[in-house]
Amino acid sequence: MFVNVPGVTRRYGAIEAGGTKFVCAIGSGPDDVAAGERFPTLQPTETIEAVIDFFAAEVRDGGELDGIGISSFGPVELRPSHPQYGHITTTTKAGWEDTDLAGPVERALGAPVGFDTDVNGAALGEGRWGAAQGLDTFVYMTIGTGIGVGAVVGGNVAHGLVHPEMGHVIVCRRPGDEYQGACPFHRDCLEGMASGPTLEARFGQPGEDLAGSDGDEAVALIAWYVADGLRTIVYTLAPQRIVIGGGVAEMPGLLPAIRSRLVEILGGYPGLPEHARDDFVVATALDGLAGTYGAFVLAERAAGFPAT
Ligand code: ZN
Repeated sequence: MFVNVPGVTRRYGAIEAGGTKFVCAIGSGPDDVAAGERFPTLQPTETIEAVIDFFAAEVRDGGELDGIGISSFGPVELRPSHPQYGHITTTTKAGWEDTDLAGPVERALGAPVGFDTDVNGAALGEGRWGAAQGLDTFVYMTIGTGIGVGAVVGGNVAHGLVHPEMGHVIVCRRPGDEYQGACPFHRDCLEGMASGPTLEARFGQPGEDLAGSDGDEAVALIAWYVADGLRTIVYTLAPQRIVIGGGVAEMPGLLPAIRSRLVEILGGYPGLPEHARDDFVVATALDGLAGTYGAFVLAERAAGFPAT
């Protein structure tokens, strides 16, 4: 085990692998980013080559990396002993099924690689620098083209046989909502009823374009289902805080609507005043980069340097 040396700044690579873009950065955290680049998510070989070329050039110019962290869209294989560790597995993203992501990066760049899901990475980022600082049990939820949730429990990212898939929990249908649901696996799970594309399917235009009564109805719909999903999470993980990010989460009025609906459906049980506080459900504090910054934490852990 290495020991942190005061005054020594480590040099890490961070990769947030998303379905539309790969965000790459070099540094050690939000206040120490030496270089950054974004690449569109094309087919695996060309995308991964572009990422490796970026880091290889940075290594040539600025020196070796102590570690590299990857926060990836999924599903992914996270069991280190599994032959497919570091792979994106059964994704619906065309061309990316069974793609080794961590392997090529580690072999090309020769630095230890930490690998986890995008939402688990984002949770680590929020815990270290963002809206969940100082807490050891919390969740990060992103509401965008899909719904994903990363959990830190007792200071550790929660995964076992696979990573949790809390975006696919069952929700109760809102009275009057006839929408069939968009999840290809479960139809009307949380993601199937409250992700961004469900608004366009219901209203005929993207969520960000909805205004007036349609806008109010969209907020009420999303808040209904998200609060329902969060109730399950509150009762199963007992988070100290819930951090919410993603494009849909930026809808005006959504967070207050989620808070009040969640308090309503908790029904006074178990009666903790913390569940009703405004700081129980909060917005991301890392401006869309929680997953990228979280990759710095993954890199640091892979390199064997303890958190400071
Ligand atoms: Zn589902």
